[in-house]
Amino acid sequence: MTMLSGALPRMPPPGGEPVEPDGTGSRRWWGGLYLPSFVLAGGSAWLCWIGVRTLERSGRLGAELAAGRARLVAPAVVAVVVLILLCERWWPAECRELFARGHVHDAAFFVVHVAAVVPLMTLLGVAFAHLIGSHARWLGAPWAAWCPRWLLAGVTLVLMDGGNWLAHWAEHRITPLWRMHALHHSQEQLSVLTSFRAHPLSHLPGFCLATVPVIALMGDPGLAPFLITSYVCLGTLPHANVPWSLGPLGRIVVSPAYHRLHHSVEDAEGCNLGIVLTVWDVLAGRARFPVRGAPSCRTGLAHRPVRTEQAAGGRWHPGVLVSQLAEPFRVPSGDRRNPHDGTGSPTPQSPEALSVGPAAHDGRRTPRIAA
Ligand SMILES: [Zn+2]
Ligand SMILES: [Zn+2]
Repeated sequence: MTMLSGALPRMPPPGGEPVEPDGTGSRRWWGGLYLPSFVLAGGSAWLCWIGVRTLERSGRLGAELAAGRARLVAPAVVAVVVLILLCERWWPAECRELFARGHVHDAAFFVVHVAAVVPLMTLLGVAFAHLIGSHARWLGAPWAAWCPRWLLAGVTLVLMDGGNWLAHWAEHRITPLWRMHALHHSQEQLSVLTSFRAHPLSHLPGFCLATVPVIALMGDPGLAPFLITSYVCLGTLPHANVPWSLGPLGRIVVSPAYHRLHHSVEDAEGCNLGIVLTVWDVLAGRARFPVRGAPSCRTGLAHRPVRTEQAAGGRWHPGVLVSQLAEPFRVPSGDRRNPHDGTGSPTPQSPEALSVGPAAHDGRRTPRIAA
């Protein structure tokens, strides 16, 4: 599916104001803004406002935000991250120093995650629960109250994962969503911290689809925190910089080696979209299982359509981070398009743009950097 990409205006040439064909003047400043990202931001703000209003009416705003933090940054999540960081030192898929630029930068994204994304996700969850309770009560599953808790937890986790797979598929197919998701894929030094490298506005589609089963099936609300924390823990492992394919279990559960193929610089088809389970990829014909003993692939995006910390040299991390967060709000040039939306390869514009491979990822060469 292609949205808007065919009618996108071109980016101004680097280092100068755009010049109209007749040379009479420059393009208006708002011509450089990417409207769909503002619509997404507006939708998220509207849902957050509903979440805040709902919680304020019940006097639970502070308590619910604290509970959301406890669910999404629970001690169990921190313990899993620390354990995986240790494993990355002992069994690295790709050897690199502890304070590699990618690691430090993704640690900064973890701070953004705790400060901004967790409250955002909490408010989105409250807003969805409110909207479903007000307008879609038929989504509720009263039979869930009689289900054994272990069965209810299992079914909910599987449906959450299915919803996330669908959202992830949409992020790779729909250009405005890809513009947000591309930041996650821009990491060239994958580690467990990459789990937190995401644009705050990229969580909306996943929440739309993954929270519905939680809200519909949670006849026992006490299970929700446990489920959400468990799912976050399971979702952090696949980004680990370890070569594990998990043996036979890796045919069902997403392993680090399996998800690394999804982040491969050469993945032109959007394979391995699963978050926790591989079954959705198998059903959709998108599963590509790792080959035992094969060398680890390079990760990141060909042509660097999103600015990377590796290409920024010694630049201050927060400055690069802010420019990465702002990038989806600018109109994309030809090579910033979604490579998986069916329009084929990005428009080649230079000899460098034609070379899709490790050379394009060498930190000393910057074929195309988002400004
Ligand atoms: Zn992806
Ligand atoms: Zn990922």
